[in-house]
Order: sequence, then structure tokens, then C-alpha cells
Amino acid sequence: MGMLEGKSELREVHWLMDMLQSIDVGLMVVDSQYRLAIWNSFMQNHSNRRPKSVLNQRLWDAFPEISEEWFRRKVDSVLLLRTPAFTTWEQRPYLLRFPSYRPVTGTAPYMYQNATFMPLRSADGEVNHVGIILYDVTDVAVNRADLKAANAKLEALSRTDRLTGLNNRGYWEQRLEEEFRRNRRSGEVSSLVLFDVDHFKRVNDIYGHPSGDEVLRQIARVVSAQVRSTDICGRYGGEEFAALLIDTPADKARVLAERLRQAIAAMSITTETGTLSVTVSLGISQHAADMQSHEHWISTADQALYQAKQTGRNRTVIYENIGAAS
Ligand code: GH3
Ligand code: MG
Ligand code: MG
Repeated sequence: MGMLEGKSELREVHWLMDMLQSIDVGLMVVDSQYRLAIWNSFMQNHSNRRPKSVLNQRLWDAFPEISEEWFRRKVDSVLLLRTPAFTTWEQRPYLLRFPSYRPVTGTAPYMYQNATFMPLRSADGEVNHVGIILYDVTDVAVNRADLKAANAKLEALSRTDRLTGLNNRGYWEQRLEEEFRRNRRSGEVSSLVLFDVDHFKRVNDIYGHPSGDEVLRQIARVVSAQVRSTDICGRYGGEEFAALLIDTPADKARVLAERLRQAIAAMSITTETGTLSVTVSLGISQHAADMQSHEHWISTADQALYQAKQTGRNRTVIYENIGAAS
């Protein structure tokens, strides 16, 4: 090799070194004893550790978040097989815990990283070092997390009634079916409460449909406030609502139903077209062993509700008591 050739090669190496220092990717080299031999400026900037304080140290001594066992295995396999290995942020979010510099999205408390481990050959052909390339993939990870959140929101929407925010009929009925099966299996007794706004057609006629909607929204708010968090409420139809009271027999359900009825009757509902009051009629049915299906369960509660309408409205009727009363 001539003198000039050697010089230009050396110059190229210097250029490359400069570029590697400023590249927006982390570069490390460890030897077969896992000691750090290279620490580029990306690593320095994100870890806040100067090369002097980390070089010649074993990586897990300098960074306790690294599992010694895991890191040894990774490096050993690359040295032995002489083939690269990878880790992605999905397997482990990061190799080294660096703070994230993203604007406050709240979704990325640290930098997500992909890493490549590659065998480095020395002049004699031996492989005694492993190069580690660290990529910042926070954007990818955050976008994925946003997508997940958006999907969860969509799913919640699809089981939510738009007007009231309660469970919609489809989802509520699905939950009822599950509870029906659970009751049958366990012998626990839950109660179903169906209720319907009295003379709601008049409300629409007098105050207009938008005000009717406002009434339904306010009723939904009272229902949500009155039930326990384990109970499952839904909008069953236009001005019909349903509450599934878990592990609650009919006599206990009646206490809640009456409280609900009185709370609704006491409400003065302000709408754009005036202030009004409404009442509701309620039917209760507790789960019974001889019920064939959840639809059967609904029909018993519906019969009780019908009875409440027939006997004057603004009242609660328990299905099990219908026969006794008549
Ligand atoms: P009762 O139940 O006491 O027998 O009388 P009602 O007048 O409430 O009876 P009905 O079930 O016949 O009427 C219900 C009315 O509710 C008819 C319909 O226009 C109205 N309605 C149904 N869904 C909505 C809704 O989403 N918004 C509004 N504003 N009205 C609705
Ligand atoms: Mg109705
Ligand atoms: Mg009605």
C-alpha cells in the first residue's frame, strides 16, 4: 500500500468516525467480557453519561436496568454463532432507560428502542466484539398506543347509547345473557328492573322532541347515580330503561326501584322549552330456576311493568307478586 493511499484511507475513517458520532442512532461496542469499548454521542446525550464514566465497564454495572443474565446470553450467542440478533420494543420496550424527549403526550415516559447486536470481526478474522445499534422508535410505539386507544374508544362507542351514555340495548342484552347463565350455574339471584316513562308522548307533544331527549338524558343520569357500580344499566328502547341488579333478590331490588322512582318524580327538569316533571313505572323480576332463557326473564319483568302501568303508573310491581295480587 502506497503512502498516499494509506493517507486517504485514514482520512475516510476519520470522516466516517465524525459521521458516526453525530448520527441519530446509538452505537456501542462491547468486548467478550461485556465491557464497553465504544459510546457515541447519541448514547452520551441521552444517558447523560460521558464516555469516560462508562467505557471499560460492564454494561450492567453502569446501567442497572440491564439484566446481566439476559445481556450475557445475547452477547454470547452473537459471538458464538457470528450472526446478528435483534430485540424490538414490543419484546422489551427499551434496552437502556432513557427519558423521552417527546412533547408531553403522556404516553411515552421513556424512549422506546429497537436494538441490533452484530458480530464485529477483527483483522485476524476473530470475533471478539459485539456492536450494538440502538434505534429510537418512540414515534412508532406512541402511534401504536394511540391507535389502541382509538380502537378501545370505538369499541366503547359501539356498546354505548349515544343519547344517554348508558349501555345500548345490544350490549346490555349480552350482559343480561351472561348474568342469566351465571345465575343458573351458581344459584345466585339477580334481579331485572325494567322501567318506562309515563305518558312520554305528551312530553314530546307539549315540549318538543329535543326537550324529550333532555328528559331521557337526565333520567339516565339519575339511574347511573343510584345503582351500584356492579349493576348493569342500559337503555332498552325509546323511553324504556333497564337495570340488572347483581346478586339482589326482588325485595331488595324493590328498595332501589322505589328510591329511583321517587328521585325521578322529584326531579324538576329544565329544558329549552320549559321546566317539567315526569314519573316512571317499574317492573321487577328476580331470576328463577325455571326460566328458560334471558328473553323469558325479560318478558316476566315486562309483565310486571305492564301491571304497573295498568294499576295507575308511577309505581313499582314485582313479577312474583302479580299472581298474589289478582
Ligand atoms: P305510557 O308509557 O305511560 O303508557 O305512555 P307513553 O306516552 O310513554 O307511551 P308510548 O310508549 O306509546 O310512547 C312512547 C313515546 O316515546 C313515543 C315516542 O315518540 C317517544 N320516544 C321514543 N324514543 C324517543 C327518543 O329517543 N326521544 C324522544 N324525545 N322521544 C322518544
Ligand atoms: Mg314505552
Ligand atoms: Mg312510556
